[in-house]
Amino acid sequence: MMAHPRTEKEKVAVSEREAKYRQRLQKEIDEVQRGLAEVEERLAEKGDYSLGEGDPAIYLWEMNLARRERLRARLEELQAAMARLDRGTYEQCSVCGGRIEEDRLELLPTTRTCSECARKGR
Ligand SMILES: [Zn+2]
Repeated sequence: MMAHPRTEKEKVAVSEREAKYRQRLQKEIDEVQRGLAEVEERLAEKGDYSLGEGDPAIYLWEMNLARRERLRARLEELQAAMARLDRGTYEQCSVCGGRIEEDRLELLPTTRTCSECARKGR
């Protein structure tokens, strides 16, 4: 299991990292929610299209549906990451229990594994 911070200095360092991760996650959550609102708006305009065979509107409609699915899935991942941050397990690798590297979390804010476990494909 991940070692808990022992000294005050370590505790401060952890809370500083957590604040940074939280900000990073919240920023992307906001972006995804904006994207979702936009795609919902486009999907709500469906009634204006004839949706006949070969209508390019169908293609657009399907693209928007796919986009909505992607955004919803991403939002779930981001919210799950936020929940791990709240529980204090955000930096903890779900495989080996070790600490996930800071630069890895900056690059992949919803990752649940450290780079070594990811490399081993576990
Ligand atoms: Zn690991």
